[in-house]
Amino acid sequence: MSSDNSVLILHTSDGYRIAHIQGMGNAYWWPACCTKADVIIDEKEEDALYEYHERCLNCGTQNPEWEEHREIYPKWVKDNFGNSKVYNTISEALTASGKLLEEIGGYCEYGIQFLKGYEGKDFPK
Ligand SMILES: [Zn+2]
Repeated sequence: MSSDNSVLILHTSDGYRIAHIQGMGNAYWWPACCTKADVIIDEKEEDALYEYHERCLNCGTQNPEWEEHREIYPKWVKDNFGNSKVYNTISEALTASGKLLEEIGGYCEYGIQFLKGYEGKDFPK
């Protein structure tokens, strides 16, 4: 069985963040209703049947379609790296990634990787 997991290092303008990610391909999926991603927030609301629904808080679309882009969806970055400590150097980030790998039991299908495409950008608010 594939676990599709990796320990990713994200480099932004203020430093490095790390996270244990499952399904890193999801990083490239954006809601199709709006393209100004930095103003989009989606939320999942549970209904009486315990099914989750998404709503775009920018335009109000319920359960928007998702489409794959070449760029990373900033909300995905915020959701997945928002709890990470910010490391000043690449070597601190790598050391912390090694510890994280140990914490998850040492098994990681794609290992420690750098998430490309966010260097120099600000961490999404
Ligand atoms: Zn929208």
